[in-house]
Formats: sequence, C-alpha cells, structure tokens
Amino acid sequence: MEPSERIEYLKNEINKSNYKYYVEENPYLSDFEYDKLFAELKELEAKYPMFKTPDSPTQRVGSVSEKFFSHTHKYRLYSLDNTYNYEELSAWYTKICNEFNKELELVCELKIDGLAIALTYTDGLFTLGVTRGDGVTGENITQNLKTVKAIPLRLFKNKNLEVRGEIYMPKSSFEKLNEEALNTGEKIFANPRNAASGSLRQLDSTVTAKRDLSMFTYTGIFEDTEDKNIKTHYDSMMYLKELGFKINPNIRLVKGIQGAIEYCKEWETKRFELDYATDGVVIKINDIAVQKNLGYTARAPKWATAFKFPPEEVTTKLLDIELNTGKTGVITPVAVLKPVQLGGSVVSRASLHNFDEIKRLDIRIGDKVLIKKAAEIIPKVIKSMDTPSHYKLPVYNAPTHCPACGAPLTEKENEVGLYCQNPQCNQLMRAKIEYWASKEAMDIDFVGPSLIQQLYDKKFISNPVDLYRLTTQDLTQLDLIQEKSASNIYNAIQQSKTRPLNRLLTALGIRHVGKETADILASEFATLDDIKSASLEQLSEIENIGDIIARSIYDFFKDENNIKMIEDLKILGVNPVSKVKPKSDKLAGKTFVLTGTLQNMTRDEASEIIKSHGGKTSSSVSKKTSYVLAGENAGSKLDKAQDLGVIILTENDFLEMIK
Ligand code: NAD
Repeated sequence: MEPSERIEYLKNEINKSNYKYYVEENPYLSDFEYDKLFAELKELEAKYPMFKTPDSPTQRVGSVSEKFFSHTHKYRLYSLDNTYNYEELSAWYTKICNEFNKELELVCELKIDGLAIALTYTDGLFTLGVTRGDGVTGENITQNLKTVKAIPLRLFKNKNLEVRGEIYMPKSSFEKLNEEALNTGEKIFANPRNAASGSLRQLDSTVTAKRDLSMFTYTGIFEDTEDKNIKTHYDSMMYLKELGFKINPNIRLVKGIQGAIEYCKEWETKRFELDYATDGVVIKINDIAVQKNLGYTARAPKWATAFKFPPEEVTTKLLDIELNTGKTGVITPVAVLKPVQLGGSVVSRASLHNFDEIKRLDIRIGDKVLIKKAAEIIPKVIKSMDTPSHYKLPVYNAPTHCPACGAPLTEKENEVGLYCQNPQCNQLMRAKIEYWASKEAMDIDFVGPSLIQQLYDKKFISNPVDLYRLTTQDLTQLDLIQEKSASNIYNAIQQSKTRPLNRLLTALGIRHVGKETADILASEFATLDDIKSASLEQLSEIENIGDIIARSIYDFFKDENNIKMIEDLKILGVNPVSKVKPKSDKLAGKTFVLTGTLQNMTRDEASEIIKSHGGKTSSSVSKKTSYVLAGENAGSKLDKAQDLGVIILTENDFLEMIK
C-alpha cells in the first residue's frame, strides 16, 4: 500500500473508532490496538509531511457529543502523547534536557483512567464544570459535578482559578453497580471509566448523585496575580491541596528519567492494589518556566508524556466455546481463543462465566472479543467488539443436553447455570475424582487429571472411593508408570486417609459446601456420621449456614448412594474425627473431676460435654478443682473433695448446669 493510502486508511480507522469510543461509548478496538494505529499514523505523517492534513486525528483531541449544552473552554484542554516503552520515554527526556542544556526535575503521577473535566472557581466558589470534549468545546455538566463529594463547592480561600482533574469510579463501586444492574436489568458498564462517564453524563443529576464518583485534581491554572508566582508543578499541586482539592497521594518528585522509570516499574504491579483504575504514569517537567517555553503540539503538551502500562485488555478471535463439567455437574462455558499475548503470557482460553452472560453480551463463535487479565486473575471475556461481521454470525444457543453423556440439562431454582444430573455421566464422575484429589480437597500427590483419565479409561476407578481400592499392581499397568512411581502414588493415596474432616467434607463436593462451610461443619460435628444424623433444624441453626445450604447438606446425607459411599470410605479407613468447638463457654475456667458411675452417660461422654462447654477435666482432686461430679459408688475422690471443701455435684446438678 502506498504511504498516502495507508495514511488515509489509518485516519479513517481512527476517526471511526474515536466516534465509537467517545460518542457511542462502545469501541470496537482495544486501547492498545488504537494506540498502535495512532502511533503508526504519527510516524507516517512525520515521514511524509505532505500527506498531513489539519483534519487528521493526530491534530485533534477527543470529541463532543450533544447530550448537554456545549461550552467553549476558556483555556484549551489537551490530550497526552504516550509510549509503551522506556527507550522512547528516555528519548523524550533527553531531547528536552539537550534543548535546555541541563538535567530537569520530573513529577510522576498515576494516570487515572477516568474522564477529564475542567472546573472554574470564581472568588473561591465552584461556578462551572465542563467535560474535555474536543478540547475546545465540552459539555456543561455543572449540575452533575456538584454531586461529586471530592469536588469542593467552596475553597478554603477566595481564589479565581481553573482546575483539571479526572473523574473516576472506584473499582469496588463499579463492581457493585454492575451487580445491581444485573439484578435489575439495567445497563452494564464495560469498565470503571465507562461507568464514570455514563454516570456523569446523566440528564437527571439525582441519578449521578447516587453513583459513587470521585475526582483527583492534576492541574491548576491560576488567575490571581499572587498565585502566578508558583514556580513548579509540584508546588502548584501542594497549593491545590491547601485550597481543598483532592490530590492523588502517590505523586512523586524525581531527579532524572531513571527515577521516573523506577516509579513506572513500581506502579506497574502495585496499581492492582488500588481501588481505582490506572492505565499508566504521567511524567511532567516540574519547572513551569520550562513548560511554558516548550508549549504544545496541536494535540498535547510537549512538557508531559504518558507511559502506558502493558495492556490488561486485548482483543482476539473467539474460536470456540468449550463446555466443561464441574464437580457438582454444572456445565461451564470456556472461551477457546486465538492465542494472544496478554500481561506477560500467551492466553488461549478465558472464562465466559455462564450461559446467561453469553446471552446478555450476545457473544458469538467467530466474534472479535475483548479479554482482560488483571493481576493474577484468570483472563475473562469482557464483551464482543461491535464489528460488522458480528451480525453475520449465528447467535450462540446454550446447550440443552450434556455434551458428555447426552442427558438433558436442568436449571436449579434461584441459580444461574445448567446442570447435568446423571450420576453415570463419565465427565461428571471424572470431575468429582479430580476435585477429590485436588490440593483444595484431599490433596493427593501425583494424582492429577491425566492419571485419573487413564485409571478411569482402564476401568480401575469409577468414583473417588475406588482410589482407596487401588493396589500398586493396578498402578503398574498404566502407561509410563514404573514400580517406584506406582508405590509413590499408592502411598500418597493411603496418606490422604489421614486428612481432617473439613477436607473430607470439601472433597465430597456437596452443593454449596465449599471450604468455608466445610470448616464450620467440622467444628460443629466430630464425624460424618454425626452430620448424617443431624436434623434439618439442627443444621440450619448453625451460624452462617442458611436454609439452602442446610437443605443441601441434609439431602446429601439422606441420598442412598452417598450413604453407601460414606460406609465404604469408613471400611477403607477414611473416617476422620474432628475436634468439636465448644458449644458454649459456660464452664470456661472450671476444672471437673469425675468419680463413680453415672446413669445417663459414660464418664468419657461427660468429659466431652464439659470440654464442649469450655471446661476441663482432671484425674485427681486438689484445691484447684472447681467441682467433683459424683456418680454411684464414688470412692476416695469424693472423700477428698469433702475434706478440701470442693463443691460436689450430682448427675442431675450437672445436667441442670449445662442445660
Ligand atoms: P489519554 O486518556 O491517553 O490521556 C490524556 C488524558 O489523561 C487527559 O485528558 C487526562 O484526562 C488524563 N489523565 C489522567 N491522569 C492524569 C494526570 N495525572 N495528569 C494529566 N492527565 C491525566 O488521552 P485521550 O485523548 O483522553 O484518549 C486517548 C486514549 O483513549 C487513547 O490512547 C486510547 O487509549 C483511548 N481511545 C481508545 C479508542 C478505542 O477505540 N479503543 C478510541 C479513542 C481513544
């Protein structure tokens, strides 16, 4: 393609995406793709200046929509140049230093991923708030901005100035807002930036007031003579703070470009700890005189630039939707993607949540999708990009039958998700065995998906209990398993028999019983048999176990197959006993000595009861003994208690005491 043609193509592509991004708020390119096209256009225009036109997107900022009254800015608002690499960043700094013949101080600030606005203060009073728009004209959203608590309505001093800042929605509030929207069927926002923008550009400011928005101020243009003496950007920021503005606390003054690079590296990972989205670092020359000297290009200041973090979001093609069966029979859709580089690794699969989500987002196989990976979280599909080809693809329909066994899938009341409930389903049983052996549950070394698959295919196992029936001979019959590793696997399985009750409960994969509920159950009941004999009322009375969970546990232990499995496990030596947490602390600090024969319980049972109420037992009577519980035919301990004046309880007294 000729350079002029390529330039035309890029201009068109960027203009189209600007409209989708700024006006429709529904981009079809990821920011990373957009920035790449933009950088290419800038480079070509620099190389072939004869093809550079005033209407090129490189000569303009953003865009204005027509929802509100437009307002012409008193001072123009610019965008920022950006780079994704440190060489370019260093080159930017070196060029400026060479121009001024000295090392320059820099200010590093987090680049908040929100919406730029300009606020006017007259005699200390907030009078006007306008979006950046195309930099020359923006939308007057003063009414809505007045609802943002981080925007001072009156300053601590009666000053005249304009400030610029970034309006954002905290990540936690964004997630909450989307969660509520899911329940009420309202609009879901793709990211916190869209949520902030959508919330601010509401025609009804009472809606904006309900949204949790905030603002960091990052620039001040001072109109009062005495304020015009401020010499550095850093000092101006501290002054804005004094006036009552919210300044990002992570602002840092650094000596040379190395300091700025260190700051970028530090925040590349630390940013995930913040409750607001950042997409880079803005690096600004501190000296205002130098800033003035450098001035602006048509689009951005020359005295500042943005270092953008590696993208958290990229687009790729959705090749297929794979169906996975979980341990409870739930079928989860998994996106199979054209492999793409994201956050330092190649991603080829991502989470698609559930079938309702696929329908809501109208995701179709063959779509260009946006995927996101934040810190350590598994990548997930955010949305399908609004490309023309999307509409030509067939709509995806959720499966009606289990992909493994063909049984009809069912829905469960009050739950999203489709379930295969066929106990004979191969896929389901394998998922149960895999879960049983996993780190989270019985933690059996060497027993992973591929070994399980082999054992299953060779019919050595068909359920988790069968693992405990395996012999080393069975294991040596598998591919690539030598005698030594067979005995390692065998020992690991045997060793897992000693796992505590909470792990066994987790491994059973009872619906709604994850690790936390398993811990609760194991602190309330000593054995599986105890849970099995608990009534539904008893289960639902346990703190943090609601009716639905109680019902699920109750049903599990009434199911014939499960009862048989528990019996088999017991026979095979898997029957842990847990320490039951005290029922109360009624007897805390009290020491009991038991003597004689009790009518309603054995002495061991009485000891357990005492412990379960926080008390202790001892075998001999001393001054420290609180009570002696005396049954029939009590011996010398009773005499000693009488001598020492220790309180003696009958069995009835004791039962009264713990009632
Ligand atoms: P930008 O968001 O990359 O950078 C400029 C903005 O940074 C400023 O206007 C300001 O609002 C903000 N900012 C945040 N913290 C700041 C701080 N501490 N100091 C100064 N400014 C700070 O530029 P832009 O012009 O708003 O948008 C261009 C970017 O938007 C592109 O680089 C791209 O990532 C994205 N975009 C994407 C598409 C798409 O189709 N995906 C289309 C258009 C734009």
